[in-house]
Amino acid sequence: MLAALGAGPQVRAQNNAAPVVEGIRYGLNAGKTRIVVDLDRKADFRVFMLEGPPRLVIDLPRSEWKIPRSRPVAAGDLLKSYRSGDLDGGLTRIVFDLRRTAVVAGAFTLDRSSTARDRVVVDLSPSSQNLFQAGLEKVHGNKLLGGAALGAAPPMPAPESGVAAARNESVARAVPPDVPMRKPPGAAPAPRGGAERKYVIVLDPGHGGADPGAVASGGILEKNITLAVARELKRQMEETGRYRVVMTRDRDVQIRLRDRLDMARRERADLFISLHADKIQRNDVRGASIYTLSRTASDAETARLAERENTAGVVAGVDLNSESQEIAGILLDLAMREKMNESSLLARFLEDAFRRKSVRLLPNSHRSAGFAVLKAPDVPSVLIETGFLSNPAEVKLLSSAEFQRRISSAVLDGVDAYFRKIRALQKI
Ligand code: ZN
Repeated sequence: MLAALGAGPQVRAQNNAAPVVEGIRYGLNAGKTRIVVDLDRKADFRVFMLEGPPRLVIDLPRSEWKIPRSRPVAAGDLLKSYRSGDLDGGLTRIVFDLRRTAVVAGAFTLDRSSTARDRVVVDLSPSSQNLFQAGLEKVHGNKLLGGAALGAAPPMPAPESGVAAARNESVARAVPPDVPMRKPPGAAPAPRGGAERKYVIVLDPGHGGADPGAVASGGILEKNITLAVARELKRQMEETGRYRVVMTRDRDVQIRLRDRLDMARRERADLFISLHADKIQRNDVRGASIYTLSRTASDAETARLAERENTAGVVAGVDLNSESQEIAGILLDLAMREKMNESSLLARFLEDAFRRKSVRLLPNSHRSAGFAVLKAPDVPSVLIETGFLSNPAEVKLLSSAEFQRRISSAVLDGVDAYFRKIRALQKI
């Protein structure tokens, strides 16, 4: 009988033994950072992101480790370090500290081959704060791994090394208090990060005070038109309950461009929308157009910002103080590019909405330019030229409350569609 008793656990051990983490490798490809966890056998997994600071979590069934359980990562610019610990419910949690916001671009397993072990693979892409926030709701892999709710926050066992010990507490905190298995609402755009938070929109009525902007022949001033449209747009946006709107000015004052930008960053705005009206020599041209920052303009700005902001702290989720000038430049460039994609996305949705609401557009109405006001590196930004004050019909239109309501509701439609898309991108 003793022999039989001995055999039982042994057989069980063969079938149910903990997977062994044999290595963690990294790869960089086309802007993505790949994490490969090598295992001695197939294992289930669960992957999600956490904020404050940004972290990636990989949960595995309770695992043995052949490699150190915490270690700095010396590959690419995205990952700082990893640490791991065992959770109740038979789980092992690996937490990667990130240097900036990112999204999970893919998470899957690969079976062993003649040249490789069983693997869990996670691809990360650097992202804007917006996309990162939207991605917090997504869980990749087996949501019910270990049968444990994500919300449980069991304490970690004492890790061996001093560094790991210091971080023990933050690993325990790594389990989010609000379970990130919550599904994002489908049809209506909802604010990110919980029901209370509204998207923050900074509206920037162009010009003001001593700077009238364009002057129409009848004495109509651009600065008054932009303010009237911004007020109407604010009213409509706030009426939805989804947006908190901050105006760079709500009266006739002059504000420096840089201060307008700083306001968007200080408010941690989700979008920055600058409103203008154009004027040219010809009086037969009319229609609205939407500008986003051009690539060449942003390159120079990126370099300058990297230089200036090196002493100023965090931009686009990048802590510039802790980076070399060169690395800071690269990280900022990535953040800027992501933001430009989002700005272009918004511009396209605005164009669509303008067409649907019969707001006349210029041909090729989405344009790029190096407008200073578009250069906040961490806030998707567009500049809308609402029309031409050099065209008498358009002066009349832009001065009418009816048209101001219509163009505002078109902008609101475009912004709604933009946030729906941003959220949908995270559900693929
Ligand atoms: Zn203007």
